[in-house]
Amino acid sequence: MAEPYDLLVIGGGPGGYVAALRAAQLKLRTVLVEREHLGGICLNWGCIPTKSLLHTADTLRRIRHASDLGLAVAEPAIDFARVMQRSREVAQRLNKGVTHLLRKAGVTVIDGAAGFAPDRSVQVMQPDGKTQRLQARHLIVATGAHPRALPQLPFDGDRVWSYRDALAARSLPASLLVIGAGAIGMEFASFYATLGTKVTLVEALPRVLPASDADVSAFVAKAIARGGITVRTGVRVQSAEVRKDRVLVELANGESLQAERVLVAVGLAGNTEGLGLEHTRVRVKGGLIQADAQGATSDPTVHAIGDVTGGPMLAHRASHQGLACVERIASGAKDGPAHAPLIPSCVYSHPQSAGVGLNEDEAKSRGRPIRVGRFPLDASGKAIAIGEASGFVKTIFDEASGELLGAHIVGPDAPELIHGFTLAATLETTEAELMETVFAHPTLSESLHESVLAAFGRPLHI
Ligand code: NAD
Repeated sequence: MAEPYDLLVIGGGPGGYVAALRAAQLKLRTVLVEREHLGGICLNWGCIPTKSLLHTADTLRRIRHASDLGLAVAEPAIDFARVMQRSREVAQRLNKGVTHLLRKAGVTVIDGAAGFAPDRSVQVMQPDGKTQRLQARHLIVATGAHPRALPQLPFDGDRVWSYRDALAARSLPASLLVIGAGAIGMEFASFYATLGTKVTLVEALPRVLPASDADVSAFVAKAIARGGITVRTGVRVQSAEVRKDRVLVELANGESLQAERVLVAVGLAGNTEGLGLEHTRVRVKGGLIQADAQGATSDPTVHAIGDVTGGPMLAHRASHQGLACVERIASGAKDGPAHAPLIPSCVYSHPQSAGVGLNEDEAKSRGRPIRVGRFPLDASGKAIAIGEASGFVKTIFDEASGELLGAHIVGPDAPELIHGFTLAATLETTEAELMETVFAHPTLSESLHESVLAAFGRPLHI
């Protein structure tokens, strides 16, 4: 067998390929094994292609409102095949980009499915059926996650979709039932509803986007209902029947629904099966590898990062954990940074939303006094000028220390704007520094400033 690599990464998603790039920068001899597409789900079947679809939807929405801006435009015709094709092209272009980056960095990339053998070497089953054995001083498992199925509605790729099917639809469904109002459910509900599909959204918990701040959930729920999406919360699917031309669903409250297609988006399960993890000392609980913020597991040479280690299952969290993991491997350090990083979360449905840090309920549950500031976008000059004055910025501070505990935004470009607060909180800024900061006028970002001022009773424009 050839000389062992310094690092072997299993999985080429945003956790694995970023870890491999950093390892190569640190002069580690690195090999990455990927069974399907470099870039993983995020780039090929998740974050990126959905942003292409949602950009189409957003453009369509703006064209429909063009008359408000003094532009007479007819309702555009939708070339659905082209909409889908563009989304695939965007993914393919970025997939090529990752291939190029890894080659340029000197990372060896092997196509195939990797798993641990009893002697702890890694066996790769290549697409041509051949196998090869690899050895490395350190391993990173970055195998990601797959959609959880509902027993009443197993995925069939036709009537019952996972997100992957929703990204490869051949025609625009007349009606779509979306089960689960997390980020995936909300983003597809938004896309299909804007293009003209009659969408019904069913969520088991009492509110849509249950992980978001309660004010964000309430605002988004009202907005999507106004936009024509039927929302049912606090209810689960009782039973379902898949017919040739539609799906019939009975909810636990007795309501019957039917739709041409159903998208099941009830969360993800870690990809731990078939990896031979029983040949390592890695602990797996509930289908997830137990790892710390720097990817250390109970096996000193096997590390794990990203979705396979649990939530938040977000690409940027996987990349960050991958970088931290490689730094620790390269330095030989036992411990990582004392603080877990702040991870912003963003949802690109319409209206867009984003948050970082604690939501209001979490902040209150700490038992220390807080100050909350809210600034509505209908008081923002820039938001009014661009016809997007719906939404708000909310900030939550510890009253005694002035520490920014959390921030939440609904409205245009919320996922871009949230980084003002992510940066501020990461640098442990105080309310006084935020109030002293000069924000350019007229910008949507001024609303961040106003929300901070509002938290301390000093808003200027409300
Ligand atoms: P999720 O866990 O965020 O949401 C799933 C939702 O389904 C939850 O609200 C849950 O209460 C609900 N649910 C569960 N069982 C149900 C049932 N039987 N009936 C009705 N509702 C039920 O998961 P997701 O939306 O599938 O997304 C998976 C992961 O990918 C998440 O971690 C998500 O944050 C991430 N993601 C992020 C983005 C983004 O950052 N923009 C986009 C897509 C996905």
